[in-house]
This record gives sequence, C-alpha cells and structure tokens, in this order.
Amino acid sequence: MKRITWTIVAFCLLLAKPVAGQEAKPNSTLINNVQIFDGRNVIASSGAVRIEDDRIAQVSSTQLEPLLGEMVIDGKGRFLMPGLIDAHVHVSWAFPFSKADQANESYVTAGAVANASAMLKRGFTTVRDTAGTDYGLAMAIDDGVVQGPRIIFTGRSISQTGGHADHRKINEKPSNSLIHGFGSTIADGEAEVIKAAREELRRGAYFIKIHAGGGVSSPTDPLHSVQYSFEEMQAAVQTAADRGTYVAAHAYTPESISRALNAGVKTIEHGNMIDKKTAELAARKGAFVVPNLITYWAMDKAPGMPPYIKAKNKTALDAMTDALKLLKEAGVKIAFGTDLIANMHPLQNQEFLLRTQAFTPLEILRQATSVNASLIALSGRNNPYGKLGVIEAGAVADIILIDGNPLENMTLMSKPETAFSLIMKDGKIVK
Ligand code: ZN
Ligand code: ZN
Repeated sequence: MKRITWTIVAFCLLLAKPVAGQEAKPNSTLINNVQIFDGRNVIASSGAVRIEDDRIAQVSSTQLEPLLGEMVIDGKGRFLMPGLIDAHVHVSWAFPFSKADQANESYVTAGAVANASAMLKRGFTTVRDTAGTDYGLAMAIDDGVVQGPRIIFTGRSISQTGGHADHRKINEKPSNSLIHGFGSTIADGEAEVIKAAREELRRGAYFIKIHAGGGVSSPTDPLHSVQYSFEEMQAAVQTAADRGTYVAAHAYTPESISRALNAGVKTIEHGNMIDKKTAELAARKGAFVVPNLITYWAMDKAPGMPPYIKAKNKTALDAMTDALKLLKEAGVKIAFGTDLIANMHPLQNQEFLLRTQAFTPLEILRQATSVNASLIALSGRNNPYGKLGVIEAGAVADIILIDGNPLENMTLMSKPETAFSLIMKDGKIVK
C-alpha cells in the first residue's frame, strides 16, 4: 500500500516538474490540456501539442510533461484546431469597385495590408487569393514586413472579351489583346490564353484562374453566358499542367461547369446553379467546388448596388440552397470560401454560420481546414509551405484555441475577436 502511495507521489512530482536532462529546443512551446480537432476528427479530450520552431513536433492524446526551458501554455480544456483556410478571397480588393479607377497602387496596397492583418486576426492563417493579389504582398507577409495569412495567389485572373473580368461598360472602347484590367487579363484565343497564363506563372502564381461563365459584378455578361471555348480552356489547363499546377474556373451554370470539368479544370469557384448531372460529373472528376454563401447574402443586403448586380446576385443567391444539397448528395469535395470584397470583408467568419443550413459542424470545420488544405496541395511542388490544415507531427504550426466547442456551438466560429483566445501562425503567437 505504502509503495503504491509513493509511486503516485513520485508520478505527481514528475508531472509538476520539467523532465531533468531533457532540454527543450530554444523555440519549443507546449500547449497542454486541450481538446484536439486535427482537421478531420476530434482525437483527444485532454491532450497536448508540442511546437518546435514553425512545425508541430508532437501530438499527444494525453497531457505531456514540459521539457526544461520549454514555454508551456495551459489550454484549460479549450478547443484546439488547425488555423483556418479560406479558399476564395480577394485580399487586395479592400475598397469599393467604384474607387478602383481613381485609386493608385499605394492606396490599393494600403487597403490590402490592413485586410490581410484583419484576416489573420479572424483566425485565417492561409488564404487562396483568386484574383487581385500578387507576389509582392505574399512576399512581404512571408518576410515578416507586414502581418497576414500566407497567400496562395493566382495573380491576375484570365477572362475573354466581354467576360466576367472584363469590367468595361457597354460604351467603352474595344479591347486590344491582353489588356491588364483590374486584377485580370483579357485574353482571346488559345495563343493569348497561353501567353496570359504563362505570364502569371512567371510572376509566381500558384495556379491559374479563368472565367468560364457569367458573373454577378460585371456589367455586360449575363449569368447564363458560357465563356471560353473548350480549346481555350484546354490551352490554359495544359499550360498550368506543364508547370505542375492546375486551373480554377469561375462558373455558375451546368453548361460552363461541365465544359470546364471536361477540359481538365480542377476547381469550380461558386457553382451556384449546378444541376444533379453536373454535380455527379464533378464528383467523378475528383474536382473541388468552392461555394461562397456569405458574399451573395451580403450583396443582397448591401445598399447602393447597381440594379444589374442586384438582379444577378439574387439569381445566384436563390440557387445556392439546392446547389449545396446536390453537391453533398453527389459526394463532391466541397471547399470553404467566402469571396468578399470591399467593406464586406469583416463578414468573413459569418460563412461558418450560413453553412449550417446544409452541413454539420464537423463537415464545416473539415472544409475550412483539411479539405481546403488538400485543394491547396493541387499546386504541387509550386507550394513551398509544407503540410497545412492539420494537427499532426511535421505539419506547419498554424493553430487556434477556442473558448468552447464549435462542434456544439458554431456561433463561436463567427466571433473570433472574443472566442479565439490564441492564434498561432508558423509557430509564432499572433494573438
Ligand atoms: Zn467569381
Ligand atoms: Zn472571387
């Protein structure tokens, strides 16, 4: 009996004290006593995560003993999960489109810097920028010049004349080839599409984005329009594949989505008006669809929108509920994206709440972590950052701690300023 008591005492002492002789690395942090969601499932109710430099070094389903000299954070039973990933953002579109004509580059950059910092504070440690942002801002963040999520950017998106990224009004001049517009290039014919794609890849783009059909915010293309011929799309896909990466396509309708999928496009952005047959095609092709609910919801409520935007937005918004159901039933890989612009960016985390109409909390958290990470991994060797969106040894140390369990209360995800008690990116605490 006595012996057992002493064993318990000795064990408790061991728990309380750092392990003698085992010194921690200089930048070693232990987060103890946390519920762990690893990006796929809850794997511990009171576990621990050890971080060394910018990587996760150890994940344990039980609490761990601190090493000598290690920084220890008592998680107090909080919910630990991977840093969030948003697969469809426009970091550099921090101002209203009406200002784009007058704004110079420093104005745009100042807005983008503020926007990036705010996204990080909302728990997003990685974002995929689907037009507008280039290597300059991504590099400034990587180098620690400014704070923000790491940005997986496409640079300028590629659009046909009169397509979704052709922002000219009906009375403006005809286009010369390869006009560089507002975060986009206008390119027609295979040769121009190839040149535009190569140009973005030269400028460090992680992937190529094309516009395969009509969009909400553009003045001259109806939503039902299909944009780019099959051959033009294939030319973009081949150019991207030669560089070891893929093509993303903005598309709403079954016609534009199926043409893009058959040409080899790997991610469909939006997909609002998809039908059963096309959803099944997306599943068969193993493609991702990136819906964004919050942007249509916000645009619907935004004051002062031109009537043509308002009408197109309503069509896209109304179709969304059915689309999500069809995508889910077909077993399509559904990513998490928001697509907000201008002063709507602060609504980013409301996407979590809107998704509860179609998905379980577990599905939503997976979408914003491990599913989005596998989408980003489509960039292959072009992505230098390592394993993202999961809590496991060797992965990048992007971690958030939440006061409460979002699997039981999704509202927590929509209130990062109060509910997220810790945000860590690359092993560094940023909040
Ligand atoms: Zn779009
Ligand atoms: Zn977008």
